[in-house]
Amino acid sequence: MKTMHAAVLEKYGRFEWKKVKQPEIAENEVLVKVAYAGICGSDQHIFKGEFHPRTTLPFVPGHEFGGFITETGPAVRNFRAGELVAVDPIIWCGKCPACLRHHYPACTTLKILGVDMNGGFGEYINVPEHMLYRIDTSVPPHHAAMVEILSIGFHACSRAKVKADDTVLIWGAGKVGQSILQAVRTKTTNKVIMVDIIDKRLNLAKKHFPDIYTINAGDQDPVKRINEITGGDGVDVAFEAVGHYTEIPGRPNPVRGCIQSIRGAGTVCVLGLGDEPAPVLMKELIWKEGTLIASRVSHGEFAETIENLGKGTLKPDAMITDILDPAKIQAGFEMLEKEPGDHLKILLKLI
Ligand SMILES: [Zn+2]
Ligand SMILES: [Zn+2]
Repeated sequence: MKTMHAAVLEKYGRFEWKKVKQPEIAENEVLVKVAYAGICGSDQHIFKGEFHPRTTLPFVPGHEFGGFITETGPAVRNFRAGELVAVDPIIWCGKCPACLRHHYPACTTLKILGVDMNGGFGEYINVPEHMLYRIDTSVPPHHAAMVEILSIGFHACSRAKVKADDTVLIWGAGKVGQSILQAVRTKTTNKVIMVDIIDKRLNLAKKHFPDIYTINAGDQDPVKRINEITGGDGVDVAFEAVGHYTEIPGRPNPVRGCIQSIRGAGTVCVLGLGDEPAPVLMKELIWKEGTLIASRVSHGEFAETIENLGKGTLKPDAMITDILDPAKIQAGFEMLEKEPGDHLKILLKLI
């Protein structure tokens, strides 16, 4: 039996970097030697037991990763050993009403590699060929681990139909908000506004995209400020990427703030996964005949993301705050919990 090391969640809140059995490949699968893997917000939920019983212990998370193919099954046609790949972790049923309409992110039994089954926080993983995307060798391997999170931003842009001259509001400067920012900047050169309550996150975005406007919702009334920035028009598209929000007296919650900030016939796209309701006043949306739309994972945007990575139009390093030895994974998760303003994307370096 071949063995490898993996970051195993033994108890909720406790990782062990330990020796486990190396996965074997099926006919249509390849063995990927994971190079880098990113820690996602959903991994933080898994870590704290908030996805139980969707995840059961012991568990190896990791749905954002890239690596090199070391072995291919006999039925694998389009990939060879040595190639750098990213893995689209979405597994859909193909039979439910959404799947029959080719709308896979809304599959009623959607499964995600690294959430519903062991994932990429280990030295090796077996992956079916159809989930692989080849990455040009000019792209450094740590950027391969950023493809999944960046594709979330591209999917949000396609859901909201961001156009070349659109003004855009992104409410929430965490991992998802920053991914949207990256994708949005490949689409429009017009005004982009970011709202958050953590200055460090806003500053991180501003450092790499100096032409954006940033608003700390704790210091300023964001809707009033957005109105000033857009000359009273409101934005064409507003993204809500907060989820669990902190109530600020006298200020709207992020979803309602987005509705109040769009122009007439503008679009609000929601992505934040909060567990509590975010009250909105529907007539504020109806008066504008606004469009309210949701975006969940990505579908088909891996190719667009990889193409942009190859062209150098994205700044993945802007989102990476830490690269850690996988044996330090426990510390990585604790850093994200205790100092959310100081860490955005933490990558585990497995090679
Ligand atoms: Zn993720
Ligand atoms: Zn389905």
